[in-house]
Amino acid sequence: MTNANNSAMPTPVDVARARSETPGCAEVVHLNNAGAALTPAPVLDAVIDHLRLEARLGGYEAAAAAAPKVNAVYESIARLIGCRPHEVAVVENATRAWDMAFYAMRFGPGDRILTSRAEYASNVIAFLQVARRTGAHIEVVDDDEHGQLSVEDLQRRLDDDVKLVAVTHVPTQSGLVNPAIEIGRLTRAAGVPFLLDACQSVGQLPVNVRDIGCDMLSATGRKFLRGPRGTGFLYVSDRLVETMEPPFLDLHAATWTDAQTYDIRPDARRFENWETNYAAKIGLGVAVGYALDWGIEAIEERVTALATRLRHQLAQLPGVTVQDRGRRLCGIVTFTVDGVPAADVHRRLTAAGINTSVSAITSARYDLGARNLPAVLRASVHYYNTDEEIDTLCATLNSRRT
Ligand SMILES: *Cc1c(COP(=O)(O)O)cnc(C)c1O
Repeated sequence: MTNANNSAMPTPVDVARARSETPGCAEVVHLNNAGAALTPAPVLDAVIDHLRLEARLGGYEAAAAAAPKVNAVYESIARLIGCRPHEVAVVENATRAWDMAFYAMRFGPGDRILTSRAEYASNVIAFLQVARRTGAHIEVVDDDEHGQLSVEDLQRRLDDDVKLVAVTHVPTQSGLVNPAIEIGRLTRAAGVPFLLDACQSVGQLPVNVRDIGCDMLSATGRKFLRGPRGTGFLYVSDRLVETMEPPFLDLHAATWTDAQTYDIRPDARRFENWETNYAAKIGLGVAVGYALDWGIEAIEERVTALATRLRHQLAQLPGVTVQDRGRRLCGIVTFTVDGVPAADVHRRLTAAGINTSVSAITSARYDLGARNLPAVLRASVHYYNTDEEIDTLCATLNSRRT
């Protein structure tokens, strides 16, 4: 049933079943999977069931009763990304996951942090804060002629002053897939820690931390994994974890051992905190298992086919420009309409029952700024979308001249 492991020909997704297990498919044309995908019924049921259990038994008692399901969350995530369960921390979202890793690293004057043009605004804001505090320098690695991170430029910049390479795998504002495996090869050879923001890639593409060679990886639940909102996770490798002091500690991340001392947990859960939304956490585990049951290769194959069709159709529409760059493209499709602000296009599509979103320059200044784009419209497909939905989007775009 699971095709997740390198089978040459993944069993294609049964789209009719995927849609019948997704209540939202009957309501909307959902092309905002990079914002938050529609949750499948098993995830919804798992969340609601746990909330009901809490109401009946009490929250602590429900958590104890659900302990096997909670442990299964770590096992599922470990299977998904190719690590071990104790290398995973489950937290509120991808930003918190990324921040816990980033702010656990130590930088000083003259240290260099290398990043990508694709980088997400929240990551860059953290870079700027830390640069201001410590005197570390932020350097943006050039793109190559395809619009992806230039591996040659990265190689040229890697030296002993570089204390971190932090790269976004798939950005929020484009269909680009950055060459994570090539980046990991270089960082490993240079002995520099590699933090991968895999928020938009996990769930739509195979992402394996051993293949990539990243030391840290952050992801969210609600995007391509189709989990509940308010969930995310952090992977930190065994190699690094004990050298990293979390920016916050509590009685879950550490133990108060003596009046004056505490011990930090040895595993990645040092980046968690004690109180958590158990229903959402269990739902995340179910979402990961659900994705693995479809098979990540099968998901990627269908997502890529749908996105290719969409880009092709958009390119035929007068006044529409597809804005995706990169050698390898994914399920995020971005475009602009001549003379019409992205927010206006978005509003019209929403009124027609088609969910998309807008990526504004404030989300990605290094990238959209360099391309002189104040905003792009983003239509992000998932495996439960259909050719007909793509046709509907394009027909709606074509039926107006605002
Ligand atoms: C959405 C996104 C994030 C932030 O994820 P949250 O779960 O909202 O914290 C980080 N990086 C990228 C590339 C994103 O698209």
